[in-house]
Amino acid sequence: MIKAEDLQAAKTNKVPYPNSFSQEMVVFDHGKGVYLVDIAGNRYLDFGAGIAVNSLGYGRKDLAKAAAKQMKKLIHVSNLYATRPSIALGERLLALGNFQAVHFGNSGSEAMETAIKFARLYSRAKKGEGKHKLLCFANAFHGRTMGALSCTPTAKYQDPFAPLIPGVSVCNFNDVKGLESMLDESYAAVLAEVVQGEGGLTVMTKDFAKALNNLCRKHDIMLIADEVQTGLGRCGYPLASKAVGLEPDIVSFSKPLAGGLPLSATLIPEKVNKELHIGHHGTTFGGGPVTTTVAGKVLDIILNERFLAEVREKATFLEERLQDIASSNKGVKGVKGLGMLKGLDIADESKLPDLMTALQAEQLIVLRSGTCTLRIAPPLVISIDELDKGLSILKAVCSKVL
Ligand code: PLP
Repeated sequence: MIKAEDLQAAKTNKVPYPNSFSQEMVVFDHGKGVYLVDIAGNRYLDFGAGIAVNSLGYGRKDLAKAAAKQMKKLIHVSNLYATRPSIALGERLLALGNFQAVHFGNSGSEAMETAIKFARLYSRAKKGEGKHKLLCFANAFHGRTMGALSCTPTAKYQDPFAPLIPGVSVCNFNDVKGLESMLDESYAAVLAEVVQGEGGLTVMTKDFAKALNNLCRKHDIMLIADEVQTGLGRCGYPLASKAVGLEPDIVSFSKPLAGGLPLSATLIPEKVNKELHIGHHGTTFGGGPVTTTVAGKVLDIILNERFLAEVREKATFLEERLQDIASSNKGVKGVKGLGMLKGLDIADESKLPDLMTALQAEQLIVLRSGTCTLRIAPPLVISIDELDKGLSILKAVCSKVL
């Protein structure tokens, strides 16, 4: 346990950030493996991975070397020109499904913004004016830019920034009947997460995935899988969609793609690509040679079938241990999530902040999801022993706080 004065020494209340961020933050200095170290020297086991980004952990010399080598060679050329690392990465991503092109961006929001724009463009070209509606799901999270935000139907995120973009409807998640009653050819796209990463870790049911596949096909609606948090190994597969049988037309990746550097990818099929013309969409930094070089190294590791099989084994261990905590503590309602994106539903949500503070004092970093879910998304390279250590801390702290 960290002494109160040591924890205080690691914090600052002088951040130059807007009030939309906490004004008191722990300041981190460095990381190694699955541990983070703050400026006072306190060491934390990290079950958050920088919000599901640092899948390969910290202090990676291989990634740093690759980035440094590329930086000496060429850092930026804009999207008026191509570079070898960007082309190579694009080709590898396209091979993950039935895609013809990839639009690189810089964040999850940008990837979703791109997906929305491309779906609307396709729908207008194919079905005509006015067929621009978008369907999203209650508790979804697709980002903070205006298009992505408009499809993130949570009042605290949306209300201060109204009016949002028009034409967005909301359906309950996993509600097949609701979906059937809403979708028709006036929709351009449905935006879906396989696991609601920010909205409480609810997993898409296979029946819902099947209904989405069928209805989107029937009405020529672009099915957009937001795999920003779930994709690239987090749930044990390159695409979490595979785990539930979802067959998306468009896929967005971001968080772990470039090992912590900002990069996103929106994968599109031939029929959408056909409708795009020069100047329709763009970005200055997206797909630069440094981020795509590092992403190539990340994919070398993450897309290896043995690595993915190990992730699935660790996920089973995590699930069993979380079930054990849930069954031995009345303050825990149940276990949620998929793969290495899992959590505990806390019966009394007012206790969640105290639980997280107590875990931090015990040198374990966790995340929150929605109002009442404690989220665990460790680096995927974590060992069973390290998982075991963190889960023992979690169990002990849960029994004290809940
Ligand atoms: N989509 C999902 C599923 C996310 O979890 C997030 C971020 O948490 C985003 C989109 C937005 O990503 P970013 O914060 O990089 O813009």
